[in-house]
Amino acid sequence: MLKLKDETLLRPDAYVDGAWTASPSRFAVTDKATGETIAQVADLDAAATQRAVEAAAAAGPAWRTKTAKERAGLMRKWFELILANQEDLARLMTAEQGKPLAETRGEVAYGAAFIEWFAEEGKRVYGDVIPTFAAGKRILVLKEPVGVVAAITPWNFPNAMITRKAAPALAAGCTFIIKPAAETPLSATALAELAHRAGIPKGVFNVVTSDKAAEVGKVLTTHPLVRKFSFTGSTEIGALLMAQCTSTIKKVSLELGGNAPFIVFDDADIDSAIDGAMIAKMRNMGEACTAANRFYVHEKVQDEFAKKLTAKMAGLKMGNGLDDGVALGPLVNKDGRDKVIELVDDAVKKGAKILTGGKAPDGPGYFYPATVLSNVSDDAKMLNDEIFGPVASLQSFKSEDEVITRANNTEYGLVAYLYTKDLSRGMRVSEKLDFGMIGLNRGLVSDPAAPFGGVKQSGLGREGAHEGLMEFMETQYISVTW
Ligand code: ADP
Repeated sequence: MLKLKDETLLRPDAYVDGAWTASPSRFAVTDKATGETIAQVADLDAAATQRAVEAAAAAGPAWRTKTAKERAGLMRKWFELILANQEDLARLMTAEQGKPLAETRGEVAYGAAFIEWFAEEGKRVYGDVIPTFAAGKRILVLKEPVGVVAAITPWNFPNAMITRKAAPALAAGCTFIIKPAAETPLSATALAELAHRAGIPKGVFNVVTSDKAAEVGKVLTTHPLVRKFSFTGSTEIGALLMAQCTSTIKKVSLELGGNAPFIVFDDADIDSAIDGAMIAKMRNMGEACTAANRFYVHEKVQDEFAKKLTAKMAGLKMGNGLDDGVALGPLVNKDGRDKVIELVDDAVKKGAKILTGGKAPDGPGYFYPATVLSNVSDDAKMLNDEIFGPVASLQSFKSEDEVITRANNTEYGLVAYLYTKDLSRGMRVSEKLDFGMIGLNRGLVSDPAAPFGGVKQSGLGREGAHEGLMEFMETQYISVTW
C-alpha cells in the first residue's frame, strides 16, 4: 500500500487556472506492481480542455512581462519544493509507473534539474544589433515568448518529460498546459501542487488529466490560442498530432521513438561497456526511447561480453519497486508485455538463443525478466521495432564500416552508443552515425544542459540546453531609423 509523508501530494483532480478541477467522469490509476487502484482521477473532456487553454492565454500577458529574474525566483522555489518532497514524489511515481525507488528518486532529481537550469538560462536570452549598409538604420533582433504552449507526455518518465518542456516554456515567458499520460497522471498533479505552493501564478502551469487522449489532443493541437505544441511519445501518434497542428500553423517539437544501436569494438574496456549497457538497456526496465535496442559486439569480444552481460542481467532482483533491493519493476501494462513476449518469440523462432530470462511470470503486475538473446538474426522483428522492455538482443560484427551501415539501417535516429578506447575511432564513427545523440563510452546521454533530440523519424527540435529554450521563443526584428 502506498504511504506518503505528505498525503496532500496525492492529487486526483486536474489543475486548471490555479484551482483543483473535478469531473463527474473519473478513471482509475493503478499500482503497476499490485494492480490495486491508487486513485480515481478526473477525466476532463474537450470543453474543460478549452477552458484550460483560455486560462493559460489569460495568464500570458502578466507572466511574460515579469522579468526573467522574477520568473526564475518562482521557479527556484518550485525546484526546491520538489527536492524537499523527493521521497514522496519517488514513491508515488514507483507506484503509478513501476520502476524501482532508486530510479524514481533519480528521476525526481533529474526532472527538478531542468527547472533549476532553465530558470537560470532564462536570464540569458540575448538579442542582436545588426549593422546595415544604410546610414542611420539599425536592425534590432529580440527574442519573445511564443505564447501558450500545450504538451502531451508519455508514462515512462512521468516527471522529467513534463519538466523538460514546462521549465523552458515558463522560463521563456510562456504559459503551459500539460496532458500527462493516463497511466501516470499523479506525478503531474503532484508537480502542480508544488507549483501552487511555490506561488507560480494561476493559469501559468495547468494539468489536464484525461483518459480521452484523442479528444483532448484535438483541442490542444487545433485551438488557435495555442502557439506551440510539444509532444513526447510514439512516432505514429506524433505524426498524427503534427498533422493536426498544420491548420493553425503551430510551432511543433516532437520527441519520438528510437532504435538505438550499442556498438562494442574489440578495443573497448569491456567492464565499462557492460556498466554502460546495463544503464542504456535497463533504465526504466527498458521502457525508454533511448534504450539500447540492438547490441553489435565485435566478434573477438562477443563471448566475453555476452557472458558478463548475462551474469549482470541474471543477478537483477525483480519485484515491487517499493521493496528494498529491487532493480527491475513491472512493465506498464498488458499490451507492453505482450509486445515484448511476441518480439522474443519471433527472435527465438528465427534462431536466437536465450542466455537468461525469456519467460514471463504469473501473478499481478505485468513483469518480464531481464533477458539476453544471442545469435539474433537480421530479420528478427526486434531489430526494427522498439522492444520497450528488459531484453538485450546481441549480434556480432567484423568491421567498422559494416557496423556503421548496420547501425544506420533504421528510420529512427535518436541515440547511438559506442565503446572503444581509441578516441580517434570514437570520433570518426560518431560523425558517421545518423543519430541526434551519441554516447561515446557512456550509456546515458540525458542532461539538462545538453540538446536532447533525434533526427529522421525520431523527432523535431531539441529539449534541454539553450536550444531547448529557443524552442519556446519567436524572433522579432525591429528596423530602426533616426
Ligand atoms: P506510448 O506508446 O508511449 O504510450 P503514445 O504515443 O501512444 O506512446 O502516447 C504518448 C502520449 O500521447 C500519451 O499521453 C497518450 O495519452 C497520448 N496520445 C495517444 N494517442 C493520442 C491521440 N490520438 N491524440 C492525442 N494524444 C494521444
